[in-house]
Formats: sequence, C-alpha cells, structure tokens
Amino acid sequence: MYVDAHCHLDDERLAEIEDAVFARAESAGVTGFVVAGVDPASWARQRALCARRAGVRWTAGLHPCAVASLTAEGAEAAMAALPGAFEGAHAATGLGETGLDTRFCARETLPRQESVFRASLALARTLNVPVVLHLNGQGTHARALGVLRAEGLPRAGGMVHAYSGSAELVREYVALGLHISFAGTVCRPDARKVHAAARAVPDSRLLLETDAPDLTPPDLPRPNEPAALLAVARAVAALRGDAASALLARSAAACAELFGDFTLRAESRPPAGVSSSCPS
Ligand SMILES: [Zn+2]
Repeated sequence: MYVDAHCHLDDERLAEIEDAVFARAESAGVTGFVVAGVDPASWARQRALCARRAGVRWTAGLHPCAVASLTAEGAEAAMAALPGAFEGAHAATGLGETGLDTRFCARETLPRQESVFRASLALARTLNVPVVLHLNGQGTHARALGVLRAEGLPRAGGMVHAYSGSAELVREYVALGLHISFAGTVCRPDARKVHAAARAVPDSRLLLETDAPDLTPPDLPRPNEPAALLAVARAVAALRGDAASALLARSAAACAELFGDFTLRAESRPPAGVSSSCPS
C-alpha cells in the first residue's frame, strides 16, 4: 500500500471524477492520501471526504496564498476557526499548508504570511501535530529557516512539501527533524536543483507526493491525480539509484508515523472526539 504524502482530492477540478480518481489510484497501489488544507472552505470539504473515503487523512491550515488574498481581519477569523478542525469526528491530524510564498503571491504580503506562519507553528506545538510546510519563491527558504529556528517545531515533526530548495538546505531542514517531499517537478529533465536535493535526503526522511490536481509530471494527463505517484517514485528512484517500490514503501511508513494509520477501517475507528479519529 502506497501513500500520496500531499494532494488536494477535495479540489473542485477532481469533484466530478472522484470515483475514477480513487479507482485509478487503487489500481496503482496508492490507497493512502494526505489531503492538505488551504482555507476554511477546504477544511469542511476535506472532513467530508475523510468521512466517506477509506485511506484519507487530512491537514488543516491557511495557505500563504490564501493569507495573501484575505484581509487582515479575514486571516484572523480563519486562524480563530483553525483549532476547530482538530476536534470532533474525522478530525485533521496535521497542520498545513502553512509557510511563505513569493512566487504566486505578492511579496508585500510576506509580513502577514509570516505572522500567520508563526501562529500556525504555535498551534501545531500546542496540539503536537505535524506541520506541512509550503515554501516557494526567492528568499522563502532562508526566511522560513529563521522562523523555524526561532519558533521551534512540534515534537510530531512535519514535512516540506513539493521541495524547491537546494541540496544544502535539505541538511538544515533534516537537522530540524523535518521530512522532505518531492512532487512531479522532479520528473522534469531540466529540474537540476530539485534533482540534487532529491539525492541529498536521507532514506528515512524522504516522502513522495503528487500535489494533485497540480504539478502534473510531464506527459501525464491533467488534472494530476494520485496514480501519478508512481511516476514521481520512478524519477526519484533513478536519481538515487534505488528501487521505486522501496522508496514508496518507506514513504508510506513515514506518512503513517507522521499522520496516523491509513488502513484503519470504519469499525475500528476511535469514538468521536478522539483526535486521531480519521480516517474511516
Ligand atoms: Zn498543495
């Protein structure tokens, strides 16, 4: 059983083809999914998905680009609602996406992104849930490392998703206890920086994801979906001189350690109110 370490299966681009997406994932051996949150509307959709699909775990967070598109009051209201995502039946078991983005959102919004990032880290430490970091664009890795060192991480650790930084910075994140996750970008022959990073991650800290419906590997159909995890695994395996199946198995085990058991069935689910009540 393989696990897609980061995807957005609640995205409206996948809503109409949900049955087919899950069927193709199962045929590929991908039966676990970490569905990452971006804003309060997505948290509600993710909780519902977790209730109706086996193998789904989810994380709740305010994506830096969501922060950039909200007013200060809107971001404050969303952050006030965030602890509720970790309560009740089918609760979130990780905090994210959170982080910094200067590639897709305006650099002027960085101070607001950073204050939400700091508040999110504080909540993750209080709840002791793993964090899912989104760091994209010039300067974001150096700034994020400063924030992470100053604030500290939850004991539960976390991951940097769709890693875009250098091989040197891999060591810094790993020293902080984080996992490093690679998406379809690593399949591009010209993505040399990502290739170097994929070689630098220790076996026990390497995760594989699709970020579906985005970051489709070259030559695969859009929208992206979890079945494409095998293409990501093959690309990383070729770079590391390893077997794709071994990478997938280690990544799945690490995902279960971070986010909880993906094989839990509905009948063995803990009662409502227990924080690890997801998935069905
Ligand atoms: Zn994502």
